[in-house]
Amino acid sequence: MHELYIAQSILKSVQKSLPEDVRAEDVTQVRVECGQLDAVVPDSLIFLFDAIKAESNMPQAELLVEQIAVACVCKDCSREFEMELPVFICPDCQSGNVELLRGRGIRLTGITVNEPEDENHGHTGHP
Ligand SMILES: [Zn+2]
Repeated sequence: MHELYIAQSILKSVQKSLPEDVRAEDVTQVRVECGQLDAVVPDSLIFLFDAIKAESNMPQAELLVEQIAVACVCKDCSREFEMELPVFICPDCQSGNVELLRGRGIRLTGITVNEPEDENHGHTGHP
């Protein structure tokens, strides 16, 4: 059940990365990228995130998960490629001497905060 651990880590990283003048309660959206090698099921992750956020300080936060393809670079011919299958072979020169570039790990890619309209903290030039 590693999705639960991931959901907890996401909540923690959001809390850590919030600027001091932003309240966690105002977070409306959290976006993450997860690599296909992690075998995360986005639906389970979102379900668990929703379950634990209710008891956290950001109950409004909605989690969006984007799965990213596994990308490698061939060390023999420098070709970069994405993999459909977990076969680490360069499509150009068939070398197996490849290095993983992307496709592992969960990355926080964005946080949306609902700023109260009626309070003006000195922000000028609203879009
Ligand atoms: Zn190659």
